[in-house]
Amino acid sequence: MRVTVNRELCAGAGNCVVTVPEVFDQDDREGLVLLQIAEPSEDLHELVETAAQMCPVGAIEVEHRVPHAMEK
Ligand code: SF4
Repeated sequence: MRVTVNRELCAGAGNCVVTVPEVFDQDDREGLVLLQIAEPSEDLHELVETAAQMCPVGAIEVEHRVPHAMEK
Protein backbone atom coordinates (compact mmCIF):
# COMPACT_ATOMS: atom_id res chain seq x y z
CA MET A 1 0.00 0.00 0.00
CA ARG A 2 1.21 3.45 -0.85
CA VAL A 3 -0.45 6.52 0.68
CA THR A 4 -0.41 10.05 -0.65
CA VAL A 5 -2.04 13.17 0.74
CA ASN A 6 -3.05 16.35 -1.02
CA ARG A 7 -2.42 19.31 1.25
CA GLU A 8 -4.10 21.61 -1.27
CA LEU A 9 -7.37 19.80 -0.69
CA CYS A 10 -6.98 19.12 3.03
CA ALA A 11 -9.44 21.05 5.16
CA GLY A 12 -7.65 20.28 8.42
CA ALA A 13 -10.60 18.35 9.77
CA GLY A 14 -8.23 15.96 11.53
CA ASN A 15 -10.28 12.78 11.03
CA CYS A 16 -7.30 10.96 9.60
CA VAL A 17 -5.07 11.93 12.52
CA VAL A 18 -7.60 10.64 15.01
CA THR A 19 -8.08 7.43 13.03
CA VAL A 20 -4.42 6.52 12.38
CA PRO A 21 -2.01 8.76 14.29
CA GLU A 22 0.85 6.45 13.29
CA VAL A 23 0.42 7.49 9.66
CA PHE A 24 -1.12 10.97 9.70
CA ASP A 25 -0.29 14.13 11.62
CA GLN A 26 -1.28 17.77 11.31
CA ASP A 27 1.15 20.64 11.14
CA ASP A 28 1.04 23.08 14.03
CA ARG A 29 0.68 26.20 11.92
CA GLU A 30 -2.09 25.48 9.43
CA GLY A 31 -3.48 22.24 10.79
CA LEU A 32 -3.03 20.58 7.41
CA VAL A 33 -2.28 16.92 7.08
CA LEU A 34 1.26 15.61 7.22
CA LEU A 35 2.08 12.13 6.03
CA GLN A 36 4.35 10.31 8.44
CA ILE A 37 4.54 6.93 6.72
CA ALA A 38 3.98 6.59 2.96
CA GLU A 39 4.06 2.80 3.04
CA PRO A 40 2.40 1.71 6.27
CA SER A 41 2.72 -1.83 7.58
CA GLU A 42 -0.06 -4.28 6.88
CA ASP A 43 -1.62 -4.07 10.31
CA LEU A 44 -2.44 -0.42 9.59
CA HIS A 45 -3.97 -0.91 6.14
CA GLU A 46 -7.56 -1.23 7.28
CA LEU A 47 -7.36 1.91 9.40
CA VAL A 48 -5.73 3.83 6.56
CA GLU A 49 -8.55 2.76 4.23
CA THR A 50 -11.06 3.96 6.80
CA ALA A 51 -9.24 7.28 7.15
CA ALA A 52 -9.25 7.77 3.39
CA GLN A 53 -12.98 7.10 3.24
CA MET A 54 -13.66 9.42 6.16
CA CYS A 55 -11.73 12.37 4.80
CA PRO A 56 -14.43 14.92 3.90
CA VAL A 57 -12.51 16.31 0.94
CA GLY A 58 -10.93 13.16 -0.49
CA ALA A 59 -7.40 14.37 0.20
CA ILE A 60 -6.06 10.89 0.99
CA GLU A 61 -5.25 8.52 -1.82
CA VAL A 62 -4.40 4.88 -1.34
CA GLU A 63 -2.66 2.92 -4.04
CA HIS A 64 -2.49 -0.83 -3.86
CA ARG A 65 0.37 -2.64 -5.43
CA VAL A 66 0.86 -6.28 -6.13
CA PRO A 67 4.26 -7.02 -4.63
CA HIS A 68 6.92 -7.97 -7.16
CA ALA A 69 4.38 -7.78 -10.01
CA MET A 70 6.95 -6.14 -12.25
CA GLU A 71 9.73 -8.52 -11.39
CA LYS A 72 10.61 -11.57 -13.39
S1 SF4 B 1 -9.18 13.92 7.15
FE1 SF4 B 1 -8.74 14.89 5.18
S2 SF4 B 1 -9.21 17.03 5.51
FE2 SF4 B 1 -9.01 16.10 7.53
S3 SF4 B 1 -6.87 16.44 8.12
FE3 SF4 B 1 -7.00 14.43 7.14
S4 SF4 B 1 -6.51 14.82 4.98
FE4 SF4 B 1 -7.04 16.77 5.90
